[in-house]
Amino acid sequence: MAGAGDHGADSVERRGLMFVLSSPSGAGKTTLSRLLIERVAGLRMSVSVTTRAMRPGEREGHDYYFVDQSRFQRMAHDGELLEWATVFDNGYGTPRVAVEAALASGQDVLFDIDWQGTQQLREKAGKDVVSVFILPPSAQDLEKRLHTRAQDSDDVIRGRMSRAAHEMSHWAEYDYIVVNHQVEQAFAEIQSILKAERLKRERRTGLTAFVRELQKQLER
Ligand code: 5GP
Repeated sequence: MAGAGDHGADSVERRGLMFVLSSPSGAGKTTLSRLLIERVAGLRMSVSVTTRAMRPGEREGHDYYFVDQSRFQRMAHDGELLEWATVFDNGYGTPRVAVEAALASGQDVLFDIDWQGTQQLREKAGKDVVSVFILPPSAQDLEKRLHTRAQDSDDVIRGRMSRAAHEMSHWAEYDYIVVNHQVEQAFAEIQSILKAERLKRERRTGLTAFVRELQKQLER
């Protein structure tokens, strides 16, 4: 549950981190992202823009900002997107301003983006990016989840299955790999990754001052 302990933020100041989850569709990434946002303090979701059609149950500004091609291209051209890519013939991109504002206010940001976007973020933000690739336990499991989701036509599902193998070939570009056998277990693993990464020395910009103050107190 959310709480000071989960925040990983004691009194020592630190740099915000960009926490990326990628996976082939159907590996459970959307559920895991939702759990992280619900249960982990100090973490905000980056809501992407997309040109694809809204699925049943999705909400404007919550799951995505749904835009047309010309608006998407204008945003990309005007530098409003931190990264963007074409996935399944649709444009997907991360609005820059919201991410910068969240990081500046001391929040970490969670991204549900593909490998192309992850590469671009890494180029721009280097070690501030922590990336996790989620794998399904089997092909059968992946297909089952795509069908259970029942939000896409059979044609779209077939397309996503054939794309999955290609997407998975990028696993070795990620910092961590989580196999989603069971959602609570996968969640616990991802949460542990985030906790440890928040404690990394190089992110904790306040450590020098903190230790100096400790030393001063000891020398008194
Ligand atoms: P879906 O259409 O199922 O919501 O998403 C399809 C794929 O696009 C997923 O792999 C998702 O991670 C990726 N995606 C969603 N938003 C973005 C984005 O802003 N940038 C990039 N590069 N990929 C995204």
